[in-house]
Amino acid sequence: MDFSRVELSDDEQKFQDELRSFLSEIVTEDVIRRDRETGDNFDEGVHLALGAAGYLERDWKVGSERAFTRVERRIWELEKRRAHVPWVTSGTTAMIAKSVEKFGSPELKAEVLPRVYSGHVRMCLGYTEPEGGSDVATCKTRAVRDGDQWIINGSKMFTTGAHNCQYVFLITNTDPSAPKHKSLTMFLVPLATPGIEIQGIRTVDGDRTNIVYYSDVRIDDRYRLGEVNGGWSVVREPLNAEHGDVAAADDGLADVSIMMHQAMFMAHAVDKAAEKSAIPDPQGRRLIDDGAVAYRLGRSVARLEASLSAPSIFGRVALAQTMRDISPDLMDVLGTASALPVGTDGSADDGAAEYIYRFAPLVGIYGGTLEVFRNMIAQYVLGLGKPSYR
Ligand SMILES: Cc1cc2nc3c(=O)[nH]c(=O)nc-3n(C[C@H](O)[C@H](O)[C@H](O)COP(=O)(O)OP(=O)(O)OC[C@H]3O[C@@H](n4cnc5c(N)ncnc54)[C@H](O)[C@@H]3O)c2cc1C
Repeated sequence: MDFSRVELSDDEQKFQDELRSFLSEIVTEDVIRRDRETGDNFDEGVHLALGAAGYLERDWKVGSERAFTRVERRIWELEKRRAHVPWVTSGTTAMIAKSVEKFGSPELKAEVLPRVYSGHVRMCLGYTEPEGGSDVATCKTRAVRDGDQWIINGSKMFTTGAHNCQYVFLITNTDPSAPKHKSLTMFLVPLATPGIEIQGIRTVDGDRTNIVYYSDVRIDDRYRLGEVNGGWSVVREPLNAEHGDVAAADDGLADVSIMMHQAMFMAHAVDKAAEKSAIPDPQGRRLIDDGAVAYRLGRSVARLEASLSAPSIFGRVALAQTMRDISPDLMDVLGTASALPVGTDGSADDGAAEYIYRFAPLVGIYGGTLEVFRNMIAQYVLGLGKPSYR
């Protein structure tokens, strides 16, 4: 692993300057405020602007002549984060586009992918069901064949971004009598199909997600991805990517683990608390001069740094657990005014610690809970065998 600073060539520097200035034009205060109000974590204007400028195609189109180089891709990822580009729906779209490219028919690819690159088509993940999401293979949403079509019935919980998307990457059960990993079929279902109802849910941190009902939803077979009852091999790759179970990049030009985006909110809250605790009050006293504050702040910084350096699946656990553990400490250190949320007059740190306090439980749930990840580490990394719940 090479930890040295990357020297940018003139072209790379130009790319960074242009991208930074473009993002500062399109990600306005209004975009940030609206995103906070809706909890959407998506802005159509920003997404379409990125599509029109060719960035989405350069990022996502496999084998494209203009595809980002490794360094450009790293700059692209870091600059988007720096500018607070809403990220959730573009993340799911990117992940699903890879599966459409790999498993879709030529006809489906032609229908979907060019509009993905222009930003007009977005896609969301339809895995979790109301009765459970940790084991996605225990899917109860049924798809039944009817000639050249399929009829889908069931419901999916937490389909984040569905209301801003055109297609859902849907796991269905096509053979309830088969062993669970041989009972699944994947579809890319157009969300405008009759019989689909999307209902919004707001989470404790203000994010918007959805429950989606499927009642006699009829779609053509061309929306199928992969083999009938072969859905597990379609969904395994994006699931692994979401779990952070991907190889580390030797050149250092990638995040060390997934959820770095979420981690940046934590780093921001720690920075804000450190800044605030060094400001003297009218009597000249600083919070940091209190030994208890210095200890708790120091411990938070150390925990943050350790979690930022933990790779792959370990990083996934370390980041979410650290956010849960240090957010109450940061709020205690800052006092009661830290309970006021972002944008409120009198807030200790413009709501930074309060936000991660509400955000932390979710970071340890979506894409797989911390308990499930700990079991995966125990089973696959430490070789402790499959847990027995009897
Ligand atoms: C904000 C948010 C956004 C989301 N977005 C999406 C989305 O876009 N698409 C989508 O499909 N899903 C989405 N999810 C769902 C998410 O992936 C699931 O919530 C998660 O996988 C856990 O599933 P569950 O909530 O059904 O809990 P369950 O699976 O019912 O688990 C309940 C409890 O049992 C524990 N548990 C379960 N199995 C085990 C095990 N093997 N070992 C130890 N403990 C276990 C869990 O840790 C948990 O505490 C989202 C969730 C949230 C909160």
